[in-house]
Amino acid sequence: MKIGFIGLGIMGKPMARNLLKAGYEVVCYDIVAENVANTVAVGAKAAASCKAVAEQCPIVITMLPNSPHVKEAVLGPGGVLEGAKAGTILIDMSSIAPLASQEIAKACGAKGVKVIDAPVSGGEPKAIDGTLSIMVGGDENVFNSVKDILLRMGASAVHCGPIGAGNTTKLANQIVVACNIAACAEAFMLAKKAGVEPARVLDAIKGGLAGSTVMNAKVPMMLQGNFKPGFKIDLHIKDLANALDTGHGVGAPLPLTAAVMEMMQTLKADGCGQNDHSALAKYYAKVSGTNFS
Ligand code: NAD
Repeated sequence: MKIGFIGLGIMGKPMARNLLKAGYEVVCYDIVAENVANTVAVGAKAAASCKAVAEQCPIVITMLPNSPHVKEAVLGPGGVLEGAKAGTILIDMSSIAPLASQEIAKACGAKGVKVIDAPVSGGEPKAIDGTLSIMVGGDENVFNSVKDILLRMGASAVHCGPIGAGNTTKLANQIVVACNIAACAEAFMLAKKAGVEPARVLDAIKGGLAGSTVMNAKVPMMLQGNFKPGFKIDLHIKDLANALDTGHGVGAPLPLTAAVMEMMQTLKADGCGQNDHSALAKYYAKVSGTNFS
């Protein structure tokens, strides 16, 4: 079966590769020619545009940065919708605003193109391993018809509700991660300032109630002063902006998210937007006048 893949960046490239490994024929496109060449080198076929991908494939996957990129690639000139036939399935795996997913699905639905939103969690290592967590919104029958494909890229694929529910779930995930990283930075800076070795604090508490995947992955980075991404502050700002917009739209105040957003904005203004989000430690280093490392 031919699968179209649009957006071959940090995440899209290994995800497309896993589809190739599973024996699917992949037709790919990215606005950056080098990214297309990298995926062609491992067995994919190149297409000249998003439209050309959709003309050739009954299933098209998009893995793009944010809502405007997905709207442009799907609804814009030379986009997926121009090339897609009725019955085509579009799986948008980008992390975008739930409202944008709904708008895109509505425009596609008018041409008989079915859309599900299927953002992921797990980052580049799990994209490479094919063990992403995939959260899906949209028609459950459409989800079931492509579940096998999703499970070539992920260890789990959970149907969360109607279109946009995948991205709402992803925003919930991003709030928990952001607030957890900030709480870790705050707590470990307290230990440091109070004269208790942060590495010992980590050893002492990681197995208890405060322990988390975030703590295990991000606190060692903070203590080493290693902020190589990983997941960039700039991308997390994008997700928190979508969370705040969505929260305000549905009447769900997000005071913790807003506070962490301003910490991230401070870091971005300080030139750290391309750092890993564990660089929230740098914010606490600045306000407390003490480094971790
Ligand atoms: P990326 O910037 O590395 O890749 C995006 C790709 O899309 C780039 O290659 C870019 O050239 C291409 N692109 C942009 N506009 C396009 C268009 N109109 N047509 C075709 N190609 C276009 O981003 P990424 O890290 O791969 O992230 C993709 C999505 O996955 C984002 O929504 C991100 O939030 C989400 N995500 C990322 C991670 C991570 O750890 N990087 C983890 C989970 C989810």
